[in-house]
Amino acid sequence: MAIVYNFSAGPAVMPKEVLEQVQRELLSYKNSGMSVMEISHRSSLFADIQKDAEKNLRMLMNVPDEYDVLFLQGGATLQFTMAPLNLAINKKKIGFVDTGHWSQRAIEEAQVLDGISVNKVASGADSKYTKLPKIVGPLQEDVDYVHITLNNTIEGTAFRTIPYEKKQLVIGDMSSNILGQRYDVRDFGMIYAGAQKNIGPAGLTVVIIRHDLVEKAPELPSMLSYKKLVAKHSTLNTPPVFAIYCAGLVFKWLLAQGGVDEMEKRNRQKAQLLYDFLDSSKLFKSPVDVESRSLTNVPFITGNAELDNQFITLATANNLVGLRGHRLVGGMRASLYNAFPIEGVKKLITIMEKFELEHKEVD
Ligand SMILES: *Cc1c(COP(=O)(O)O)cnc(C)c1O
Repeated sequence: MAIVYNFSAGPAVMPKEVLEQVQRELLSYKNSGMSVMEISHRSSLFADIQKDAEKNLRMLMNVPDEYDVLFLQGGATLQFTMAPLNLAINKKKIGFVDTGHWSQRAIEEAQVLDGISVNKVASGADSKYTKLPKIVGPLQEDVDYVHITLNNTIEGTAFRTIPYEKKQLVIGDMSSNILGQRYDVRDFGMIYAGAQKNIGPAGLTVVIIRHDLVEKAPELPSMLSYKKLVAKHSTLNTPPVFAIYCAGLVFKWLLAQGGVDEMEKRNRQKAQLLYDFLDSSKLFKSPVDVESRSLTNVPFITGNAELDNQFITLATANNLVGLRGHRLVGGMRASLYNAFPIEGVKKLITIMEKFELEHKEVD
């Protein structure tokens, strides 16, 4: 089988060692004679899978004891609704940092809710979201919390540090860089992430939430209530058993690789290699402000849609797949998540150099 480098933004590449382990264990998990897909979510086999996954995730992210960890469904998108319902309960107002598509989706979903108002506390619109906005604060008097998208998967920007003081309650969408760079969980009231970018298969959403916020939340339908989900350890109904199992294997793999600090180091190396090439290329360029650049999603363009298409065709023919940029922004995008090897970045650069040579006449 030819080596394929998968640059897809999500669902995305998973560690090969994890997939091989899944394959080995697929027909009979721990000599049970059953696949993980077939075991009861009330069995001790699954209870252990879930317990280990939570323990290892806590270790990887240094999750303090006063935070609950939930394994939910509905994607990051459902958290656009659950967070307001559970947490926008006093001022009934949320401050949003508008950094592009996913933050806007979060705003739209909050706006649908009765009695909840939203306030854009900062926006990158002026730069067409190629630059992170300057944040003015503190705002804790006006809003229940501020929502930040830590890594903007489509625009390729990322907050490396939290632009708020600790007393501001911040909810962070970390879907596309959770476990890819170090953040301090204590800087957030809550963190959430759909699994299919930097963790594992789609179908699982990780929520890390400070326990006092869970306690204060109002009565809500069970599947929307952090309180009820915490009380039932995320198994209020049938959880995504297989996705949690795979995520658990990824957490173990991450620990064996050296944890989040090692991932951040590798992600910096991979991203830097590509950004350095883009900044020196005469044909390709990064549209993103240097200080705002993401480690996990790197958009790039030639400035000519036809050339972009030709490049994507050449790359695909060379087994570099998933490079087409999001339909909203066009161009190319290389997603360099934890499981993406540096060899893939080197190969991409080789193909870009080749393409650039062939198209010298355009500049
Ligand atoms: C992909 C993505 C989402 C949406 O995730 P789903 O799990 O598909 O709902 C939300 N926020 C960010 C930052 C994303 O990258």
